Amino acid sequence: MHMLLNTDQSLTQRSEHALKDSFLRQAVQFTTERLREKKEESTNALGDWELWRERGRQIRAHTIQYLDYYLDQFATNVEQAGGQVYFAKDGVEAAKIALEIAKEKRAKKVVKSKSMVTEEVEINTVFEKEGIACVETDLGEYIVQLAKQTPSHIIIPAIHQTREQIAQLFSAEQGKAVSTDTKALTAFARQKLREAFAQAEIGMTGCNFAIAESGSVVLFSNEGNIRMVTTLPKTQIVMMGMERMVPTWEDLEVMANLLPRSATGQKLTAYMSILTGPKRSDEKDGPEELHIIIVDNGRSKQLGDPKFQAILHCIRCGACLNVCPVYRQIGGHAYGSVYPGPIGAVLSPLLNPEDEQVQELADASSLCGACYDACPVQIPLHDMLVYLRERRVKTQGGIEKVAFRGYSAIFRHQATFQWMMKTLRHVQKWSVKDGSRWSSFLSRLPIVQGWVRSRRLPYSTQRSFREQWKMLQKELEEGVDNQ
Ligand code: SF4
Repeated sequence: MHMLLNTDQSLTQRSEHALKDSFLRQAVQFTTERLREKKEESTNALGDWELWRERGRQIRAHTIQYLDYYLDQFATNVEQAGGQVYFAKDGVEAAKIALEIAKEKRAKKVVKSKSMVTEEVEINTVFEKEGIACVETDLGEYIVQLAKQTPSHIIIPAIHQTREQIAQLFSAEQGKAVSTDTKALTAFARQKLREAFAQAEIGMTGCNFAIAESGSVVLFSNEGNIRMVTTLPKTQIVMMGMERMVPTWEDLEVMANLLPRSATGQKLTAYMSILTGPKRSDEKDGPEELHIIIVDNGRSKQLGDPKFQAILHCIRCGACLNVCPVYRQIGGHAYGSVYPGPIGAVLSPLLNPEDEQVQELADASSLCGACYDACPVQIPLHDMLVYLRERRVKTQGGIEKVAFRGYSAIFRHQATFQWMMKTLRHVQKWSVKDGSRWSSFLSRLPIVQGWVRSRRLPYSTQRSFREQWKMLQKELEEGVDNQ
């Protein structure tokens, strides 16, 4: 499946477009700022956050190291509890399995909770092509669906929408004006979604964590929609990335502290739903059938790769987006990828190694490392971005390859290095002068033009440090001789 959404434009073009949208930038910056503040408060309240992060890293690293074992244990336990498990090698296969289940049930309507992996396999499009309506029930996802857009944040899908824009969308759906008042907006969504819950034959969710020791699926939410999705429809489909596993309930306790605090700054989400098999004979509600589709879609290729395996540790909290100086300026849609922000800049190229256009996402970073500091499971995203850039230059070559070969040849020998520095000092003297021929020439050069458009190089000194050092030594020696 293709993960890029705006293939007619380059990353630079999409970013430039986003930068001109002052509403978008204000909305994204305002919300990410609030999320960061709330995260800081709630992580401080927990005590030694760094210890929690380290424990989180250890659990995720152990699980991914032995993923085959835990997947097997999970599948066995799901089946023992009466559920069915399917392994899908890619997005096409995952969507096909879900569609077959829906067709078998003669479903006309599916209610869905927020799930990135279902975005990845484009399940809504697949269902809709077959005449099956797919209704998003998370409020943010519902807004995005009405706007015919895609989520622009992992946790807050409609982060880019203002209250006025949302009221316009709801008014168009209702056929009469809906006020911008929060209560009116949520009341409208509640009424519409309750109708859908009552009609749907199938409920579909993602999975925050899958517990291997019991075959349970754990889902966090704040809106209560997941409870409706998982209890009202007779058939339940869970679609999950194969890396969602944790071995035990004790491990979940750590994750249940890390995820909400990092995502929204909450100590715990309002609801935590746990599905272990379908409804039992003595239970009043719940689905009669439970189908769990475990999706690979490029994930298993990262296993055993020392540079990239840790990307599978991700718990999709979105904290790296909220601190990223690039994401905070351009928002999620400019990435053109299902997964935006730093996690998307790494994950999307890894899941789509053959797609050259997706590879440029690794450039959407300043490599400041803020994403690593924010990550509750310590994924070194900034290192991975460098490895991805290296891989791209090695495979695609181009101007960067030539430039770095030249750079390496010059910096390898002291004499060439010193000669180059001397020459560059003279060239730079002219290039930083506004209006000089050199500066206008540089501003037209590929790669360089992007740098000089918004920056001015400082004047370099007349002499290098080595030259000054030599002069100083000479002066000292002469001073000693004259005494
Ligand atoms: S990479 Fe880390 S910070 Fe980013 S979404 Fe994943 S777990 Fe959260």
